[in-house]
Amino acid sequence: MPDCLFCAIAAETIPATRVLATDRVLAFRDISPQAPTHVLVIPREHYPDVAALAAGDAALLHEVMTQAHQVAVAEGIGSSGYRVVFNTGRDGGQEVPHVHAHVLGGRSLTWPPG
Ligand code: 5GP
Ligand code: ZN
Repeated sequence: MPDCLFCAIAAETIPATRVLATDRVLAFRDISPQAPTHVLVIPREHYPDVAALAAGDAALLHEVMTQAHQVAVAEGIGSSGYRVVFNTGRDGGQEVPHVHAHVLGGRSLTWPPG
């Protein structure tokens, strides 16, 4: 997708700090971390949000979730716990229209977030 920030990160035309990568999924550190671990997990293929991904490729959504857990394990927070968030749409606070799972942890997370 032209002019998509996360497509550019997937294509390595914009740099990011990688945590994990598979043929179809990429995990990289958020540029503005909200917790000691704050990693974004994306499919390399462009889907605008999690609903579109669920409808378009359920196996790929499954791989994104599997990799979100692998990120937590690699970051040492697989047992202490973590939060996975898909911000969706305007009121959901989604700023980048390429589906991404936020993996947050490494501190106690309150709900609702501030
Ligand atoms: P959203 O608000 O769409 O759910 O989350 C977008 C996230 O992408 C934000 O947490 C923001 O800090 C992060 N972000 C925005 N631009 C960049 C970038 O250029 N590189 C990285 N690594 N993260 C970014
Ligand atoms: Zn994209």
